[in-house]
Amino acid sequence: MQRDEPAASHLYLVGTPIGNLGDFSPRAKALLTAVDVIACEDTRHSGVLLSNLQARGRKISFHQHNTRTRLPQLLELLAEGNSLAVISDAGLPGISDPGEELSAAARAAGYPVICIPGPCAATTALVCSGLPSARFCFEGFLPAKGRERQTRLEAMAAEQRTTVLYEAPHRLISLLEELQSLCGADRPLQVARELTKRHEQQVGPTIAAALSHFQERRPQGEFTLVLGGCPAPAPVELDDATLVDRMQAAIRAGASTSSAARLLASETGISRRKLYGLIHDNTAD
Ligand code: SAM
Repeated sequence: MQRDEPAASHLYLVGTPIGNLGDFSPRAKALLTAVDVIACEDTRHSGVLLSNLQARGRKISFHQHNTRTRLPQLLELLAEGNSLAVISDAGLPGISDPGEELSAAARAAGYPVICIPGPCAATTALVCSGLPSARFCFEGFLPAKGRERQTRLEAMAAEQRTTVLYEAPHRLISLLEELQSLCGADRPLQVARELTKRHEQQVGPTIAAALSHFQERRPQGEFTLVLGGCPAPAPVELDDATLVDRMQAAIRAGASTSSAARLLASETGISRRKLYGLIHDNTAD
Protein backbone atom coordinates (compact mmCIF):
# COMPACT_ATOMS: atom_id res chain seq x y z
CA MET A 1 0.00 0.00 0.00
CA GLN A 2 1.22 3.52 -0.71
CA ARG A 3 2.09 5.41 2.46
CA ASP A 4 -0.87 7.80 2.36
CA GLU A 5 -3.54 5.18 1.56
CA PRO A 6 -6.40 5.36 2.26
CA ALA A 7 -6.59 9.16 2.03
CA ALA A 8 -9.49 11.30 3.22
CA SER A 9 -12.26 12.03 0.70
CA HIS A 10 -10.83 9.60 -1.87
CA LEU A 11 -12.86 6.97 -3.70
CA TYR A 12 -11.08 3.64 -4.28
CA LEU A 13 -12.36 1.13 -6.84
CA VAL A 14 -10.88 -2.09 -5.52
CA GLY A 15 -10.45 -5.23 -7.61
CA THR A 16 -11.22 -8.54 -5.85
CA PRO A 17 -10.64 -12.12 -7.12
CA ILE A 18 -12.89 -13.69 -9.78
CA GLY A 19 -12.53 -17.13 -8.17
CA ASN A 20 -9.01 -17.63 -6.88
CA LEU A 21 -8.25 -15.98 -3.55
CA GLY A 22 -4.55 -16.07 -4.40
CA ASP A 23 -5.28 -13.25 -6.86
CA PHE A 24 -6.27 -10.83 -4.05
CA SER A 25 -3.49 -8.26 -4.11
CA PRO A 26 -1.66 -7.18 -0.92
CA ARG A 27 -2.46 -3.56 -1.76
CA ALA A 28 -6.20 -4.29 -2.13
CA LYS A 29 -6.23 -6.19 1.19
CA ALA A 30 -4.37 -3.43 3.03
CA LEU A 31 -6.65 -0.74 1.64
CA LEU A 32 -9.83 -2.63 2.55
CA THR A 33 -8.51 -3.27 6.06
CA ALA A 34 -7.97 0.41 6.71
CA VAL A 35 -10.60 2.33 4.71
CA ASP A 36 -13.44 4.14 6.57
CA VAL A 37 -16.37 2.93 4.46
CA ILE A 38 -16.79 -0.01 2.07
CA ALA A 39 -19.63 0.03 -0.45
CA CYS A 40 -20.33 -3.62 -1.34
CA GLU A 41 -22.53 -5.01 -4.08
CA ASP A 42 -23.68 -7.64 -1.59
CA THR A 43 -22.69 -7.10 2.04
CA ARG A 44 -23.31 -10.75 2.94
CA HIS A 45 -21.30 -12.09 -0.01
CA SER A 46 -18.40 -9.74 0.67
CA GLY A 47 -18.76 -10.15 4.44
CA VAL A 48 -16.67 -13.33 4.48
CA LEU A 49 -13.88 -11.77 2.46
CA LEU A 50 -13.89 -8.65 4.63
CA SER A 51 -14.12 -10.40 8.00
CA ASN A 52 -11.07 -12.52 7.07
CA LEU A 53 -9.25 -9.21 6.64
CA GLN A 54 -10.68 -7.82 9.88
CA ALA A 55 -11.75 -4.79 7.89
CA ARG A 56 -12.82 -2.14 10.36
CA GLY A 57 -14.74 0.11 7.96
CA ARG A 58 -18.50 0.54 7.88
CA LYS A 59 -20.13 -1.68 5.21
CA ILE A 60 -22.88 -0.22 3.05
CA SER A 61 -24.81 -2.05 0.34
CA PHE A 62 -24.49 -0.55 -3.14
CA HIS A 63 -26.09 -2.36 -6.07
CA GLN A 64 -28.08 -1.75 -9.22
CA HIS A 65 -31.39 -1.51 -7.33
CA ASN A 66 -30.32 1.17 -4.82
CA THR A 67 -27.82 3.16 -6.91
CA ARG A 68 -29.99 6.27 -7.14
CA THR A 69 -30.61 6.60 -3.39
CA ARG A 70 -27.11 5.54 -2.40
CA LEU A 71 -25.14 7.88 -4.67
CA PRO A 72 -25.91 11.10 -2.73
CA GLN A 73 -25.26 9.29 0.58
CA LEU A 74 -21.87 8.03 -0.60
CA LEU A 75 -20.92 11.49 -1.92
CA GLU A 76 -21.91 12.92 1.46
CA LEU A 77 -19.56 10.47 3.19
CA LEU A 78 -16.74 11.67 0.90
CA ALA A 79 -17.68 15.30 1.68
CA GLU A 80 -17.36 14.53 5.41
CA GLY A 81 -13.77 13.40 4.81
CA ASN A 82 -14.27 9.63 4.84
CA SER A 83 -12.15 7.39 2.64
CA LEU A 84 -14.50 5.18 0.60
CA ALA A 85 -13.85 1.86 -1.16
CA VAL A 86 -16.22 0.16 -3.57
CA ILE A 87 -16.07 -3.58 -4.26
CA SER A 88 -18.29 -5.85 -6.34
CA ASP A 89 -19.11 -9.52 -5.84
CA ALA A 90 -16.04 -10.37 -7.91
CA GLY A 91 -13.57 -8.69 -10.22
CA LEU A 92 -13.17 -5.07 -11.11
CA PRO A 93 -15.98 -2.80 -9.94
CA GLY A 94 -17.39 -0.82 -12.85
CA ILE A 95 -17.11 -3.64 -15.40
CA SER A 96 -20.71 -4.89 -15.68
CA ASP A 97 -20.96 -4.14 -11.96
CA PRO A 98 -21.88 -1.22 -9.72
CA GLY A 99 -19.05 1.28 -9.63
CA GLU A 100 -19.39 3.03 -12.97
CA GLU A 101 -21.93 5.60 -11.77
CA LEU A 102 -20.17 6.16 -8.45
CA SER A 103 -16.86 6.74 -10.21
CA ALA A 104 -18.51 9.27 -12.56
CA ALA A 105 -20.37 11.03 -9.74
CA ALA A 106 -17.29 11.26 -7.48
CA ARG A 107 -15.14 12.58 -10.30
CA ALA A 108 -17.80 15.11 -11.32
CA ALA A 109 -17.96 16.30 -7.71
CA GLY A 110 -14.18 16.78 -7.68
CA TYR A 111 -13.10 13.87 -5.45
CA PRO A 112 -10.01 11.85 -6.43
CA VAL A 113 -10.91 8.42 -7.85
CA ILE A 114 -8.26 5.72 -7.63
CA CYS A 115 -8.41 2.17 -8.96
CA ILE A 116 -6.60 -0.60 -7.11
CA PRO A 117 -6.55 -3.00 -10.05
CA GLY A 118 -7.33 -6.67 -9.82
CA PRO A 119 -8.59 -9.52 -12.01
CA CYS A 120 -11.26 -8.89 -14.61
CA ALA A 121 -12.96 -11.81 -16.39
CA ALA A 122 -13.08 -9.94 -19.72
CA THR A 123 -9.36 -9.26 -20.06
CA THR A 124 -8.42 -12.60 -18.49
CA ALA A 125 -10.52 -14.45 -21.10
CA LEU A 126 -9.26 -12.25 -23.92
CA VAL A 127 -5.56 -12.79 -23.35
CA CYS A 128 -5.82 -16.56 -23.07
CA SER A 129 -8.20 -16.94 -26.07
CA GLY A 130 -5.39 -16.73 -28.61
CA LEU A 131 -7.57 -14.32 -30.63
CA PRO A 132 -6.29 -10.87 -31.67
CA SER A 133 -6.11 -8.65 -28.59
CA ALA A 134 -4.39 -5.51 -29.91
CA ARG A 135 -7.82 -4.00 -30.62
CA PHE A 136 -10.99 -5.39 -29.09
CA CYS A 137 -14.57 -4.51 -28.05
CA PHE A 138 -16.35 -5.31 -24.81
CA GLU A 139 -20.11 -5.93 -24.91
CA GLY A 140 -20.74 -6.99 -21.29
CA PHE A 141 -24.16 -8.68 -21.03
CA LEU A 142 -26.44 -8.33 -24.07
CA PRO A 143 -30.05 -7.28 -23.45
CA ALA A 144 -32.01 -10.47 -22.65
CA LYS A 145 -34.35 -10.21 -25.65
CA GLY A 146 -36.08 -7.97 -28.15
CA ARG A 147 -35.02 -5.59 -30.90
CA GLU A 148 -32.13 -4.13 -28.90
CA ARG A 149 -30.59 -7.58 -28.46
CA GLN A 150 -30.93 -8.31 -32.18
CA THR A 151 -29.35 -4.96 -33.12
CA ARG A 152 -26.40 -5.55 -30.78
CA LEU A 153 -25.92 -9.10 -32.11
CA GLU A 154 -25.95 -7.89 -35.72
CA ALA A 155 -23.40 -5.16 -34.95
CA MET A 156 -21.20 -7.74 -33.18
CA ALA A 157 -21.40 -10.10 -36.16
CA ALA A 158 -20.14 -7.34 -38.51
CA GLU A 159 -17.43 -6.09 -36.10
CA GLN A 160 -13.88 -6.69 -37.36
CA ARG A 161 -12.29 -6.50 -33.91
CA THR A 162 -12.40 -9.31 -31.35
CA THR A 163 -15.46 -8.98 -29.09
CA VAL A 164 -15.66 -10.06 -25.45
CA LEU A 165 -18.99 -10.65 -23.74
CA TYR A 166 -20.47 -12.13 -20.59
CA GLU A 167 -23.32 -14.63 -20.46
CA ALA A 168 -25.25 -16.50 -17.78
CA PRO A 169 -25.09 -20.33 -17.99
CA HIS A 170 -28.81 -20.81 -18.69
CA ARG A 171 -28.62 -18.51 -21.74
CA LEU A 172 -25.34 -19.77 -23.16
CA ILE A 173 -26.72 -22.26 -25.69
CA SER A 174 -29.26 -19.85 -27.16
CA LEU A 175 -26.52 -17.18 -27.48
CA LEU A 176 -24.27 -19.67 -29.29
CA GLU A 177 -27.15 -20.55 -31.64
CA GLU A 178 -27.78 -16.88 -32.41
CA LEU A 179 -24.08 -16.26 -33.01
CA GLN A 180 -23.88 -19.27 -35.31
CA SER A 181 -26.78 -18.08 -37.44
CA LEU A 182 -25.34 -14.54 -37.74
CA CYS A 183 -21.58 -15.21 -37.92
CA GLY A 184 -21.48 -18.70 -39.44
CA ALA A 185 -20.42 -21.96 -37.81
CA ASP A 186 -16.69 -21.50 -38.44
CA ARG A 187 -16.19 -18.07 -36.86
CA PRO A 188 -13.42 -18.38 -34.22
CA LEU A 189 -14.76 -18.41 -30.68
CA GLN A 190 -13.35 -19.33 -27.28
CA VAL A 191 -15.64 -19.83 -24.32
CA ALA A 192 -13.77 -19.33 -21.04
CA ARG A 193 -15.42 -21.19 -18.18
CA GLU A 194 -14.64 -20.78 -14.46
CA LEU A 195 -11.51 -18.67 -15.03
CA THR A 196 -8.88 -18.83 -12.26
CA LYS A 197 -10.83 -21.64 -10.52
CA ARG A 198 -9.99 -25.29 -10.10
CA HIS A 199 -12.12 -26.42 -13.06
CA GLU A 200 -11.06 -23.62 -15.41
CA GLN A 201 -11.74 -24.62 -19.00
CA GLN A 202 -11.48 -23.24 -22.53
CA VAL A 203 -13.94 -24.45 -25.17
CA GLY A 204 -13.50 -23.61 -28.88
CA PRO A 205 -12.05 -22.97 -31.40
CA THR A 206 -15.23 -22.13 -33.38
CA ILE A 207 -18.84 -21.31 -32.64
CA ALA A 208 -19.94 -24.72 -33.94
CA ALA A 209 -17.42 -26.58 -31.76
CA ALA A 210 -18.49 -24.68 -28.63
CA LEU A 211 -22.17 -25.19 -29.41
CA SER A 212 -21.83 -28.92 -29.88
CA HIS A 213 -19.74 -29.18 -26.66
CA PHE A 214 -22.38 -27.44 -24.56
CA GLN A 215 -25.29 -29.27 -26.22
CA GLU A 216 -23.68 -32.44 -24.86
CA ARG A 217 -22.71 -31.03 -21.44
CA ARG A 218 -25.09 -28.69 -19.62
CA PRO A 219 -23.38 -25.30 -19.10
CA GLN A 220 -22.55 -24.76 -15.43
CA GLY A 221 -20.43 -22.07 -13.78
CA GLU A 222 -19.39 -18.67 -15.07
CA PHE A 223 -18.74 -17.92 -18.72
CA THR A 224 -16.96 -15.27 -20.75
CA LEU A 225 -17.06 -15.49 -24.56
CA VAL A 226 -14.36 -14.20 -26.89
CA LEU A 227 -15.57 -13.92 -30.49
CA GLY A 228 -13.15 -13.54 -33.40
CA GLY A 229 -13.74 -10.51 -35.63
CA CYS A 230 -15.55 -10.53 -38.96
CA PRO A 231 -12.99 -10.91 -41.77
CA ALA A 232 -12.35 -7.71 -43.75
CA PRO A 233 -14.37 -7.58 -46.98
CA ALA A 234 -12.62 -9.02 -50.04
CA PRO A 235 -11.56 -6.40 -52.60
CA VAL A 236 -14.53 -5.44 -54.79
CA GLU A 237 -14.19 -6.13 -58.54
CA LEU A 238 -14.66 -2.74 -60.24
CA ASP A 239 -13.28 -1.70 -63.62
CA ASP A 240 -10.85 1.23 -63.89
CA ALA A 241 -13.41 3.56 -65.47
CA THR A 242 -15.82 3.06 -62.55
CA LEU A 243 -13.04 3.64 -60.05
CA VAL A 244 -12.06 6.89 -61.76
CA ASP A 245 -15.72 8.02 -61.90
CA ARG A 246 -16.12 7.41 -58.18
CA MET A 247 -12.99 9.32 -57.27
CA GLN A 248 -13.92 12.20 -59.59
CA ALA A 249 -17.32 12.40 -57.92
CA ALA A 250 -15.62 12.64 -54.51
CA ILE A 251 -13.29 15.36 -55.83
CA ARG A 252 -16.25 17.33 -57.22
CA ALA A 253 -17.80 17.05 -53.77
CA GLY A 254 -14.72 18.73 -52.26
CA ALA A 255 -12.24 15.90 -51.51
CA SER A 256 -8.58 16.26 -52.41
CA THR A 257 -7.14 13.76 -54.90
CA SER A 258 -5.30 11.87 -52.19
CA SER A 259 -8.27 11.69 -49.83
CA ALA A 260 -10.54 10.52 -52.70
CA ALA A 261 -8.06 7.69 -53.33
CA ARG A 262 -7.77 6.91 -49.62
CA LEU A 263 -11.55 6.78 -49.14
CA LEU A 264 -12.09 4.48 -52.09
CA ALA A 265 -9.21 2.29 -50.95
CA SER A 266 -10.86 1.77 -47.56
CA GLU A 267 -14.22 1.01 -49.18
CA THR A 268 -12.95 -1.44 -51.79
CA GLY A 269 -9.73 -2.88 -50.40
CA ILE A 270 -7.90 -1.79 -53.59
CA SER A 271 -4.47 -0.29 -52.91
CA ARG A 272 -4.35 3.47 -52.47
CA ARG A 273 -1.25 3.60 -54.66
CA LYS A 274 -3.11 2.00 -57.60
CA LEU A 275 -6.09 4.33 -57.14
CA TYR A 276 -3.89 7.40 -56.88
CA GLY A 277 -2.12 6.37 -60.10
CA LEU A 278 -5.47 5.90 -61.86
CA ILE A 279 -6.88 9.27 -60.90
CA HIS A 280 -3.59 10.95 -61.70
CA ASP A 281 -3.48 9.39 -65.21
CA ASN A 282 -7.10 10.31 -65.90
CA THR A 283 -7.14 13.90 -64.69
CA ALA A 284 -6.23 16.65 -67.12
CA ASP A 285 -3.39 18.90 -65.88
N1 SAM B 1 -16.74 -7.05 -12.62
C1 SAM B 1 -16.53 -8.41 -13.03
C2 SAM B 1 -15.18 -8.51 -13.74
O1 SAM B 1 -14.35 -7.63 -13.57
O2 SAM B 1 -14.93 -9.48 -14.42
C3 SAM B 1 -17.66 -8.94 -13.88
C4 SAM B 1 -18.96 -8.91 -13.18
S1 SAM B 1 -20.30 -9.53 -14.10
C5 SAM B 1 -21.64 -9.13 -13.02
C6 SAM B 1 -20.19 -11.26 -13.83
C7 SAM B 1 -19.92 -12.02 -15.13
O3 SAM B 1 -18.52 -12.03 -15.40
C8 SAM B 1 -20.30 -13.49 -15.04
O4 SAM B 1 -21.67 -13.68 -15.30
C9 SAM B 1 -19.43 -14.09 -16.12
O5 SAM B 1 -20.00 -13.88 -17.41
C10 SAM B 1 -18.15 -13.27 -15.98
N2 SAM B 1 -17.24 -13.95 -15.04
C11 SAM B 1 -17.02 -13.62 -13.74
N3 SAM B 1 -16.14 -14.48 -13.19
C12 SAM B 1 -15.81 -15.36 -14.15
C13 SAM B 1 -14.96 -16.50 -14.19
N4 SAM B 1 -14.28 -16.89 -13.11
N5 SAM B 1 -14.85 -17.17 -15.36
C14 SAM B 1 -15.54 -16.79 -16.46
N6 SAM B 1 -16.34 -15.72 -16.48
C15 SAM B 1 -16.50 -15.02 -15.34
